[in-house]
Amino acid sequence: GSKQETREFQAEVKQLLDIVINSLYTDREIFLRELISNAADALEKFRYENIINKDVSDPDLPLHISIELDEKEKLLIISDTGIGMTGDELIENLGTIAHSGSKAFIKSMADNDKKDLNLIGQFGVGFYAAFMVARKVTVLTKSYQPEAQAYEWSSEGMGSYAVKTAGGITRGTRIILELKEDALDFIKPETVKRIIKQYSSFVAFPIFIGEEKVNTVEAIWTKNKNEIKDDEYNEFYKFIGNAYDEPFYRLHFNADAPLTINAILFVPKNNLEQVGFGNLEPGVNLYCRKVLIQQHSEGILPEWLRFVKGVVDSEEIPLNISRETMQDSALMAKLRKVLTGRFLKFLAEQAKSDPEKYSEFYKEFSRFLKEGATSDIVHRKDIVKLLRFESSKTEDGKYTSFEDYLSRMKEEQKYIYYINGPSREFIEAGPYLEMFKAKDIEVIYTHEAVDDFIMTHVGEFEGKKLISADQSELELPETEAELETGEDALDSDTIKALSEWLKQALGDKVSEVRESKRLVDSPAVLLNMDEFMTSSMQRVMQAVHK
Ligand code: ADP
Ligand code: MG
Repeated sequence: GSKQETREFQAEVKQLLDIVINSLYTDREIFLRELISNAADALEKFRYENIINKDVSDPDLPLHISIELDEKEKLLIISDTGIGMTGDELIENLGTIAHSGSKAFIKSMADNDKKDLNLIGQFGVGFYAAFMVARKVTVLTKSYQPEAQAYEWSSEGMGSYAVKTAGGITRGTRIILELKEDALDFIKPETVKRIIKQYSSFVAFPIFIGEEKVNTVEAIWTKNKNEIKDDEYNEFYKFIGNAYDEPFYRLHFNADAPLTINAILFVPKNNLEQVGFGNLEPGVNLYCRKVLIQQHSEGILPEWLRFVKGVVDSEEIPLNISRETMQDSALMAKLRKVLTGRFLKFLAEQAKSDPEKYSEFYKEFSRFLKEGATSDIVHRKDIVKLLRFESSKTEDGKYTSFEDYLSRMKEEQKYIYYINGPSREFIEAGPYLEMFKAKDIEVIYTHEAVDDFIMTHVGEFEGKKLISADQSELELPETEAELETGEDALDSDTIKALSEWLKQALGDKVSEVRESKRLVDSPAVLLNMDEFMTSSMQRVMQAVHK
C-alpha cells in the first residue's frame, strides 16, 4: 500500500468528537440523515460541474446514493457518485471547521448539559455525527477532476485521523461505518428504510438499499400547491433546513412575470442568532429547472433575510453562470427584488390576518427587520410598516404599528413621538411623558438602543416626522385641557434668577437652563439639544468610544 500519514484534528473538531462520542444520545439515527444529505450535496455539485465544464471523470456513472448493510462484518456503507474530494479537500473538510458560528455551536454544546445534537447539520459539522454510531469511520473518495488521485481517510474519532492514497475507485465517495455494538439496529434494512423515509424523502437522487430503490424523487416546489399536504411541506422544511421542528411560517409561490419563479420560503420557529450562534448563513438554495445552482445562496435574498430558509427555482438563471459573477448580476438583483417584495407582502398579510401570531414572530425576529429597515433602502418603506413597538396606548407587552399610531393621532398633532427606556415602568416613571399624558398624546416606547438609530434613520412615516420625546424643541399641539398657571407660579424675574443660578451651579454639565411648559408634576427635566442624537444613542456612543 501507499504511505500513510496521521494527522491531528483541529481543536474544535476534537471537542466536537468528544461530545458526539460520549453523550448518551437518543436520536442518534440522524447520523444517516447527515451522511445522505452530504451525498446528495455531492451529487448536486457534480451535476452542476458536469454542465459547466464537461471535463469530468467517469461521466457515465449513474447519479445515485447506495447503502450496503453487511450484517456479518457489522458495516453500514453509504456511497455516492458525486463530486468526490481531492486530497487537500479531504483534509480541509474532514479535519477542520472554518465557520465561526460552528465553533460557537460546539462551545455552547460543550458548556451545556442538555446536548441537542439535532442542530449538528445546521452548523456545518454533520459528518461527525457518524461517530455516534461508528467506532471507526473510513472514507474512500475520488474527485470528479479527470486526473484526480483517490484517497482513503480513516479515524476512530479519538483526536487524529489517517490519510493515504487509494486505488481502484471510481468518482464519488464511499463511507464505511464499523458500527458500535450498541448501534447494530442500524444494520437492519427496515430500520434504515424507516429513517430514510423520515428524514430524506426529498433527496433529489435515487437512494438504494442493495438493489431496492427506497425513495421517490421529485422537486416539491414545482408541484401544484393544492397537491401538497402540510406534512409534506413540514418534512421538506426539516430536510432543507436541517431542522427537527416545524416551520413557523411558510410561503409557496409561483410567478411567471417578470421572472419565472417557483419558490418555497420558510420562517423557522426560533432565531438561532438570538441564542448566540453568531451570524447565520443564508438559508435559501437556488435552482434552475431543478438543478442546484447554489446552496445557501448569498445574493438571492438581502442579507437581513438570512433567517429565511427555502428554495428558489428560476428558469431564467443561465446554468453556466459562474457563482462569482452571479452574485452581482442584474438578474440576481431582479430576482432578489421580486422575492423580497413578495416575502414582505406575505409578512404584511400575516400581520393583518393573525396579529397575535405575527407578534410571536416579531418577538423572535425583530432584529432582522430592524437591520433591514436601516440597511435595505429598496424595501425600507415596506419593512417599516412591519415594525412593532409598545406605546403609552398599548397594554404591557402588546405592540402597535406606525399605521395604528397614525389612526389614533390627534388631528392637530404633527409628529410621531417616541421615547427610549429599558422598560415600560422606567419610561413611565420619568418626566418626559408628563405633558404627553396631560395632552393625551401617544408616545411609542423603544426598549432597545438600536431602535433610536432606526427612528433617526427612518426619519418619518407617511409624511409624519419621528421625534424623540426628549428633544428640547417640542411643538406639542395645544389642547383644550391646556394647563392653567397656578396661584403659586413664579413671576418671570424669579424664573430668570433661578435659571441663572442653576446654570451657574451646574456649569458645563448643561448648555442652557430655561423655563419649561412641558412639566406637570416634576420640578425639572433634562432635555436633549441634539436633534439627531437621542439620549439613548448618546449612551451607546459613549459606551463604544470608551
Ligand atoms: P456540511 O455538509 O454542512 O458542509 P459536513 O460536516 O456534513 O458539513 O461536511 C463537511 C464537508 O465535507 C462538506 O461540506 C463537503 O465538502 C465534504 N463532504 C462530506 N461528505 C461528502 C461526500 N459524500 N462527498 C463529497 N464531499 C463530502
Ligand atoms: Mg452536511
